[in-house]
Amino acid sequence: MAKSSLRIPYNKPFIVGKELYYIAQAVIEGQLAGDGPFTKKCHAWLEECTGCGKALLTHSCTAALEMAALLCDIGPGDEVVMPSFTFVSTANAFVLRGATPVFVDIRPDTLNIDETLIEEALSPKTRAIVPVHYAGVPCAMDEILRIAGAKELYVIEDAAQALLSTYKGKSLGTLGHLGCLSFHETKNIISGEGGALLVNRDAFRGRAEILREKGTNRSQFFRGEVDKYTWVDIGSSYLPSELTSAFLFAQMEQAEKIVSMRRKIFGQYLAALKPLEEKGLLRLPFVDEESFNNGHIFYVIASSLEERNRLIEHLAASGIKAIFHYVPLHSSPAGRKFGRVSGRMSRTDDLSDRLLRLPLYFGMETGDVLSVVESVRNFFEQ
Ligand SMILES: *Cc1c(COP(=O)(O)O)cnc(C)c1O
Repeated sequence: MAKSSLRIPYNKPFIVGKELYYIAQAVIEGQLAGDGPFTKKCHAWLEECTGCGKALLTHSCTAALEMAALLCDIGPGDEVVMPSFTFVSTANAFVLRGATPVFVDIRPDTLNIDETLIEEALSPKTRAIVPVHYAGVPCAMDEILRIAGAKELYVIEDAAQALLSTYKGKSLGTLGHLGCLSFHETKNIISGEGGALLVNRDAFRGRAEILREKGTNRSQFFRGEVDKYTWVDIGSSYLPSELTSAFLFAQMEQAEKIVSMRRKIFGQYLAALKPLEEKGLLRLPFVDEESFNNGHIFYVIASSLEERNRLIEHLAASGIKAIFHYVPLHSSPAGRKFGRVSGRMSRTDDLSDRLLRLPLYFGMETGDVLSVVESVRNFFEQ
């Protein structure tokens, strides 16, 4: 089939409210560096909406993960348990500190780390567990926190995709010691590049501010708690500029609208493709009735890699961009060099080969959702 031009992209960055107005306001008010009025508004919004103790904006989720690794004093020889089915930053943050990521297989239903395999992945060197809430669907946090509590391990949630999703009524990113969020343009709430560290233990607060401000006590100085600011610890520059925060705050103001539109599209896909699942032609995403899902990703699981790739081609021929997801870290060149595997990775290998994400973005027209559904139906029922 000839490829037609792109009609329905996988993702479309969007503005939803006062983004440009707030950027103009930041410019007029004359503060463009970090931690100005818009960054503070974003912090307050995150603290209010998630119930975390303290939120700190960063320039990416990658940066938030790096801060988490620093805060937990992860160093050479340490091991950090995580899924292999995740983005590179989950592992990189710890490899940068000289630690070894230990990869564990995923659950077949949620595609999250299989909590029943965590204990056998632990060694005397283990320092932390990093659950990744894939597609904004929660990991089995009660069990993960129990395992971590028994061995005094840190829990750092990679909640990059999970803003506003909940687990037993609590926001993802607030259950572990630290939580990391992303506002990359492919996520639900965006600022181009952006992220946040949720600090859920008071003991980390002071040092988190210092690490983020190049190792200085600048934040304490501005609050009048010290009379001069100086270099007190290691650190880097992890804060976003006010231009980014201004854009982000406008999105936060409309977060409910954004998430409800994504959930609506997710629901439309689910209802329309259910008959195909019932006929055993494909598998649809796991829906947990007990938790609130933020509608981040809608995926289908084909019966083989070959079928998944033919479906990509079939959709592309109708101008629809659907994309697979992670190349498992344990089989990537850097993952092999820096990490180690615990147990078999059969589900990770199998499901990553068969998974395909369908277009889902704020502002996606119902007609476009129906076109995607139609094209998927034609593929399976031809
Ligand atoms: C997007 C993503 C990241 C990285 O986020 P950035 O803000 O781009 O650094 C990390 N982990 C997961 C699971 C992600 O989906």
